[in-house]
Amino acid sequence: MKVSVIGAGFVGLTTALGLAEKGHDVVCVDVSEERVKQLNSGIVPFFEPDVEELLQRQLERGKFRATLETGLAISDTEMSIICVGTPSTDKGIDLGYVINAALDIGKYIQAGNFHVVVVKSTVVPGSVDSDIKSALEKSTGLVAGQDFGLAMNPEFLREGCAVNDFMDPDRIVIGADDEQSGKILERLYVDFDCPVIVTSTRNAEMIKYASNSVLATLISFANEIASICESVPGLSEEVVMNGLFEDRRFWCASDEGEYSRKRPELISYLRGGIGFGGSCFPKDVTALHRFANHAGHEAKMLQSVLEINYARSDAIIRRLENSMGESVSGKKIAVIGTAFKQDTDDLRESPAVRIIASLQTKGAEVMVHDPMVKEKSIQEAVGNVAFDVASSLEEALESAWGAIIATAWNDYKEADWPFLASKMKSAIIFDGRQVIPAEQQGKGFVLLKSGNADDFKAS
Ligand code: NAD
Repeated sequence: MKVSVIGAGFVGLTTALGLAEKGHDVVCVDVSEERVKQLNSGIVPFFEPDVEELLQRQLERGKFRATLETGLAISDTEMSIICVGTPSTDKGIDLGYVINAALDIGKYIQAGNFHVVVVKSTVVPGSVDSDIKSALEKSTGLVAGQDFGLAMNPEFLREGCAVNDFMDPDRIVIGADDEQSGKILERLYVDFDCPVIVTSTRNAEMIKYASNSVLATLISFANEIASICESVPGLSEEVVMNGLFEDRRFWCASDEGEYSRKRPELISYLRGGIGFGGSCFPKDVTALHRFANHAGHEAKMLQSVLEINYARSDAIIRRLENSMGESVSGKKIAVIGTAFKQDTDDLRESPAVRIIASLQTKGAEVMVHDPMVKEKSIQEAVGNVAFDVASSLEEALESAWGAIIATAWNDYKEADWPFLASKMKSAIIFDGRQVIPAEQQGKGFVLLKSGNADDFKAS
């Protein structure tokens, strides 16, 4: 099929390249001239494994191109997929970018050829069949479902493995309020091997929010247990959770109902740490919470999920101070890793950014290290906060009073922590991501584990 993708960001570019790889002819529209230029030269403006190779292959095959011209893209394609941002606001989400994209697309849709507009951006239930539909009908002068198609197709890819997630999805959700739009969208995905859920646009919108909210809830549940364990000497959240996972309802079961002790991947969300971040979980849980309140339901659990999450940064700094026996004020503290998770350079809502800001408020001299994220991006994310950037782990930890590991980069898992700790002024390390291997733990340094009140003393 001939497809245009509106917004060449994380989701838009991955979607465009993934569809091109499946044989569709894709043109990607963005408002950023620099981004369009970069993409047409084979350069990806952010870090994500496999995207650059995929971009170069699709450019060579002539299956992908980027443009600033919405008109050219729309008139040459059967379908437009909107992948622009939907940032949080006090009222829920800002639909402005999606509405602008819809108004822009609408200018070029012509009567007589049933062009389908698909919303892939994450939007609260009712957005597609009200505001977005109205914008398109106003701009086209045509009727949705009759003269042009409208559908919702939420995206579930994860940063760090976006290409793989897109090419090999767990499920595809198609929300359409008219049959023809749904059928055309099913055709787009005919080469994908996974269950396809066809439902209304509202259910499709809500499936995305429910999916992210349940994962965030698991993380906050584990952090709640971790916080209780951190308040009581002798408790270990790791031991407690491992005990919990022996319940066969946490095992995998075959189609015949036979259990194996293999663990489902979901339990990786049930471990305490420094809290969730990224461009989706905090934004989407917040949006669903505000949307629910607006609809007359006080979503108390979602409120707690967020509160527990945001309380983790200060709790971790308090642990560090308790172990040091004094305040972090005036002392060099290293924040090891700034990306919200490994294999991405995305700092949006990163817990490390919250930790850097809290440390600075408490008067610490903050030194940060990240193998991938650029200093300029960190500065933009933390705003008016002073920090230094180290080019190596050794430099980051040299003379530091304490360190907080905030991202599980492979480099950190493979580092020689006893050696690095020997460079510190007071060797206290909070491992918020369980990166320090068991055989190195406690060798010459105090290890603070998330979910455990007891320091693992230097031996
Ligand atoms: P992003 O900020 O990385 O990209 C948005 C892109 O859209 C930018 O390149 C911007 O220049 C462009 N843009 C804005 N307005 C435009 C317009 N009118 N015409 C053309 N281009 C325009 O955003 P993202 O992370 O890709 O997220 C997009 C949507 O997908 C959001 O709703 C998000 O919640 C959702 N989502 C994100 C992820 C993720 O992991 N990032 C996963 C699933 C869903």
